[in-house]
Amino acid sequence: MLKRTHKLNEINDSLIGEVVIINGWVDRMRDLGGIVFSWIRDRYGLVQVVFEPQKPVYKSVENLSNEYVVAVKGVVRERPEAAKNPKLKSGNVEILAEELEILAEAKTPPIYTNREEGNEEARLKYRYLDLRHSTLQRNLIFRHRVAHFIREYMNSKDFIEIETPYLTKSTPEGARDFLVPSRLKKGSFYALPQSPQIFKQLLMISGFDRYYQIVRCFRDEDLRADRQPEFTQIDLEMSFADQSDVLEIVSGLVKGLYEELVGVNVGEIPVMSYSEAMEKYGSDKPDLRFEIELQDITHETFADEMKFLAPLENEALKSIKIPNGGSFSRKVLDSYVDSAKSEELRLGWVKKINGDFSGSLARIFRSAGVNLELKDGELMIACAGKRSAVNKFLGGVRLDAAKRLNLVDRESVRILWVVDFPMFEWNEEEKRYQAQHHPFTMPYVEDIDNHLNDLSKIRSHSYDLVINGWEMGSGSVRIHTRKLQEKVFDLIGISESEAKTRFGFFLEAFEYGTPPHAGFAMGFDRLIAVMLGLSSLRDVIAFPKTTSGTDLMAGAPSKVSEAQLKELGIKLEVDE
Ligand code: ASP
Repeated sequence: MLKRTHKLNEINDSLIGEVVIINGWVDRMRDLGGIVFSWIRDRYGLVQVVFEPQKPVYKSVENLSNEYVVAVKGVVRERPEAAKNPKLKSGNVEILAEELEILAEAKTPPIYTNREEGNEEARLKYRYLDLRHSTLQRNLIFRHRVAHFIREYMNSKDFIEIETPYLTKSTPEGARDFLVPSRLKKGSFYALPQSPQIFKQLLMISGFDRYYQIVRCFRDEDLRADRQPEFTQIDLEMSFADQSDVLEIVSGLVKGLYEELVGVNVGEIPVMSYSEAMEKYGSDKPDLRFEIELQDITHETFADEMKFLAPLENEALKSIKIPNGGSFSRKVLDSYVDSAKSEELRLGWVKKINGDFSGSLARIFRSAGVNLELKDGELMIACAGKRSAVNKFLGGVRLDAAKRLNLVDRESVRILWVVDFPMFEWNEEEKRYQAQHHPFTMPYVEDIDNHLNDLSKIRSHSYDLVINGWEMGSGSVRIHTRKLQEKVFDLIGISESEAKTRFGFFLEAFEYGTPPHAGFAMGFDRLIAVMLGLSSLRDVIAFPKTTSGTDLMAGAPSKVSEAQLKELGIKLEVDE
């Protein structure tokens, strides 16, 4: 085989006159009736190779086709001025072929390999071909560079990478487990970890002090574009540390990543409480790339005039003003009214166009004494009902309006920490409280005593990192005494015996000297996507699954043989 002397990003003006050997794929060919141009591609770049009819090698070009794997030996020469392509590293030069070796032939590919087009299913089925596309190559190479940067940063801060088991026991992150049947212990199952949470805490008890891992996690959830059943986390844990230590380490990492790999200085990362985020933006992951904020007008004097909106006791009345929202059609506004109704909320709106008010609140605005300004072109939406529902609803309107009006500056990067989440949330289906983050999170101990009759008011020492409206990661200070841990289990209705069965080994470990510790985990796939400005995680994962959890290429999940099932002691009851 003609072994390459140069990768394709190395072919440039400095090699003019030299003989080189390149290896790669035929990206495309152009026959100009006499002279044949062939573009050769490798991971590093693209180069134009010229086959001239007077050279003996010309004969073999007849057999050449797209996606063939080749070795070409030839002389680098300058392209004619008009044919130079400044967009390519090799754009000033071309290779005049002298020898061609076909290393592998290729059938006509079923999808484009050099154009981002084509049926999504076919692209996933032939993922290995889709991955030849330069955009996906760029994404995965970028992913590799991010992982490399993370490891260097974490290592420099004394963190050590330790692997934790994949075949394990259920880890409580609130999703369904993927189970793996045991052959040796028939009827027993491993669970794939939803995160290494318990193991990393145990590593603190073991004295490793600072741990991290770029690790796969598995959660059997209904999927969306921003979810995959197996995904990667940057997971970390620190001993003798509190919230401020974790925020400092992670902020430093994120700032460094953006500076080094995106070329953006993200500045100081602000910290906002959960309640402020909900009150101002109606979201615990506010997108700060546009300005609109929610206003609390519960106590405005004119509120009484908005008869149908007037807040009842324990209710809130809030509004948002949308610049240029005056352009929203009646249909859009009616859809807001309808969906508010379905959430048991009351909604009114007013537009000001050329000085004139319209909408269900117009009368109030026309009357004297209203002290809310409305600029021309603006739309105000006011919503009354249960405070948390009002916030959530208007938060949704805020995002919808930004989308409709194109208010998001795609170039900007807005990062923030949201802290002090509620410790517990109500699970309507199961009619009980559950841990909002996970049950190992440290509650505000003073809140426990004050709010035992309303657990939703108990705050926790927990924090989320939010980038451009995406929840990028979560973490918390951990409980480190058995007593408090048992108390939390008790509050969420995990009985002593259930706690013992599920986490007995963990609770026991607490009794052998547990340092105070805190940690965090960040979605690695999400981080790559947001850094590249992409919305689908599939574009940053080499072999992703569809939204129905299928690997279209390998055909997984799939049926298994009777013999395999028998070995596992499993009898299927599903219809064939
Ligand atoms: N285990 C948590 C998660 O996966 C992160 C953490 O608390 O460190 O969200």
